[in-house]
Amino acid sequence: MTSTPVWLEHPSSLLHETGPHPEQPARITAIEHELAARDWLGFERMTSPAIDRAVLTAVHPEAYVASIERVCATGGGFLDADTVVSPQSFEAALHAAGGAVRMVDLLLDGEAPRAFSAHRPPGHHAQTSRAMGFCLFNNVAVAAQYALDRRGLDRVMIVDWDVHHGNGTNDIFHASDRVLFVSIHQSPLYPGTGPAGDVGSGEGRGFTVNLPVPPGAGDRLFCSLVDQVVAPLARSFSPQLMLISAGYDAHRDDPLAECELTDDGFAAMARSLRRTSEALDAPLGCVLEGGYALGALARSVAATLAALNEPLPAPEPDDGGDAPLIVRYARERLAQSWPALA
Ligand SMILES: [Zn+2]
Repeated sequence: MTSTPVWLEHPSSLLHETGPHPEQPARITAIEHELAARDWLGFERMTSPAIDRAVLTAVHPEAYVASIERVCATGGGFLDADTVVSPQSFEAALHAAGGAVRMVDLLLDGEAPRAFSAHRPPGHHAQTSRAMGFCLFNNVAVAAQYALDRRGLDRVMIVDWDVHHGNGTNDIFHASDRVLFVSIHQSPLYPGTGPAGDVGSGEGRGFTVNLPVPPGAGDRLFCSLVDQVVAPLARSFSPQLMLISAGYDAHRDDPLAECELTDDGFAAMARSLRRTSEALDAPLGCVLEGGYALGALARSVAATLAALNEPLPAPEPDDGGDAPLIVRYARERLAQSWPALA
């Protein structure tokens, strides 16, 4: 087992052209510029392969994949009001999903203890047969499905801290008890899904955990939810792999939402999830989602990488009695399915 964490990237991320749009190639350039100035924070850079089509179609039907390929091959265009593709977007999307899948292999093969897959387009809004919200293929969902189908895992946890609800991921694993999906997101906000009452269905009931927060939530509420809800859920579920849908649009500088997080807030969440993953002996990987204030995005990704690679400080003593009301209500509500949260 090597101790060097890995950064996965591919130049095609810069070729997915969206015109005047918040989800733009400059997002990747800004991140790379920040990380280069900081010597990549000790991460080893790797180039992501395109995804094996059979792995992709475990989540997205071939007809849907072919439709995206066709629209790109014929010049591109709008797939919905927010989601646009250019001729090379299909290639970019294949590498975005491929990076997430390669990351799973590196983590499960012990070749990296932690990793970050950083590509465009993002993925968490993509449904099995529908592109939406700047997303074409659901990268994190494809990676989780791969871990189950091809790597023989039984339990994968996905923590989505993007400020928008990860509706695609939510729906793809809605009826599964093998993927615990936990989303912290601003409500009300696009795409309008993810109420606390959406807890999954069938065998998956209880394995979808939605934690909507109001505008202005800030570092304290996000971090309290991670420490006092997400971490105990992880200890109860005991995942063999933890994936973070790492969006940075909850940042106070972000133009698309109002959650007011700081760079330090993202670092604190990353540290907490890393601590949890290490305690559970489950490797931890991040998949880039949103984040549209270029400076804030770049700094917060760097803060995440630092948190994932620097020595962990001693945990803060948790007095437990001072949790925000939203956290206390969430724990009470979830205790029905997860007694450890009582
Ligand atoms: Zn978002």
